[in-house]
Amino acid sequence: MNTSVYDVIVLGLGGMGSSAAYHLAARNQRVLGLERYGSPHDRGSSHGHSRVIRQSYFEHPAYVPLLLRAYELWERLEHETGRDLMTLCGGLMIGGAQSNVVAGSLASAREHDLPHEILGAAEIRKHYPSLSPQDEEIAFYEKRAGWVHPEETVRAHLDRAGAMGAELHFHEPVTKWEAKANGDGVIVTTGQAEYYASRLVIAPGAWAPETLAALGLPLQVERQILFWFEPTRNPAAFDPARFPIYIWECEDGVQFYGFPTQTGVPGVKTAFYRTAQVGLGQTCSPETIDRTVHPHEVEVMRSYLAPRLPALNGQFLDARTCFYTTTPDEHFVIARHPEHQQVAIACGFSGHGYKFASVVGEILADLSCEGSTSHPIELFAPQRLQG
Ligand SMILES: Cc1cc2nc3c(=O)[nH]c(=O)nc-3n(C[C@H](O)[C@H](O)[C@H](O)COP(=O)(O)OP(=O)(O)OC[C@H]3O[C@@H](n4cnc5c(N)ncnc54)[C@H](O)[C@@H]3O)c2cc1C
Repeated sequence: MNTSVYDVIVLGLGGMGSSAAYHLAARNQRVLGLERYGSPHDRGSSHGHSRVIRQSYFEHPAYVPLLLRAYELWERLEHETGRDLMTLCGGLMIGGAQSNVVAGSLASAREHDLPHEILGAAEIRKHYPSLSPQDEEIAFYEKRAGWVHPEETVRAHLDRAGAMGAELHFHEPVTKWEAKANGDGVIVTTGQAEYYASRLVIAPGAWAPETLAALGLPLQVERQILFWFEPTRNPAAFDPARFPIYIWECEDGVQFYGFPTQTGVPGVKTAFYRTAQVGLGQTCSPETIDRTVHPHEVEVMRSYLAPRLPALNGQFLDARTCFYTTTPDEHFVIARHPEHQQVAIACGFSGHGYKFASVVGEILADLSCEGSTSHPIELFAPQRLQG
């Protein structure tokens, strides 16, 4: 007997789960979304007003087709909601000619024929007087780079999902999920109830090590910090009309990045991307994370900003912690659950997933409704990480 009330339950309504709920609802699925906190919230990985989006992907050219689709879907969401969700102010990848950010972006751009420019140090200084590269540093410039707004896009996906009939429960953590044998439905338990559905989508962010414990994936949850500083002079120089997003790879391999000013957000945001060398980015769990940002951490950020963006070495305004859930190769995990065909999983976004959330939701809906997807997700197979 089939007692399913829902077609699909979505566990976790953060960046990826909110998008999955939207795409599933758009396919006339009866969707139940279950979220531990409110929406949006700042306890996971999808908060802090901005996430870099760019196309010439230095991490791997295989991401480019997904990015092109992600842009289309973000634009569609903007159109459907009439909200401003993505700002394309241009982007600079700055470093030596052999740095990952410059050489990798160039490789992706060439492979996928993406428009770009290379700027020398003098040109960088001329066009962007707030940036002080060393003479041997160059920049890869991409006009279609910018940022998406995490809280607003989570809200937009959930509002649209709700309008299309999805039932969304907040402050209702899942305590247990169980997949029946032979793909025959799932039982999902919370403090309030037990729910039945034909299928399950699991997008738990930093809770993946506990939610997907049986898979034994080698995921590392890391504490990361977002900083906001007051410019010391000429804040207009950081306006998105004349200042880009940037990722700067320093001689020591450290990558830090930042944004222009954002309406309604005081100061200018900056953060480290890959932090192994600077001693930030400690391993933690959602239970053990230290959410206080300490003065010495602000000083580490300053030490990278001061020589390169001297005008940002102003008053420290604010900071927030956030989780990266990182795989050993820093590629995502998106797949059908290797042991349960009725379960689709998305985790391990390794600090660079947000820009893809729009297309990840589409992929999860494909995997859940069709059992497969035409998007290229071979790189994200969980089996590559297992034993
Ligand atoms: C500081 C920082 C900067 C970043 N910058 C960028 C960037 O510039 N560009 C970019 O593309 N990416 C960036 N990322 C990465 C990106 O933000 C993440 O990859 C993305 O937000 C992950 O989304 P998620 O849905 O997996 O996780 P989340 O958004 O955290 O969602 C997981 C959700 O599941 C819920 N949940 C977990 N367990 C349960 C349960 N048992 N029951 C119910 N609900 C549950 C959680 O409460 C949470 O809401 C950054 C990340 C950080 C931390």
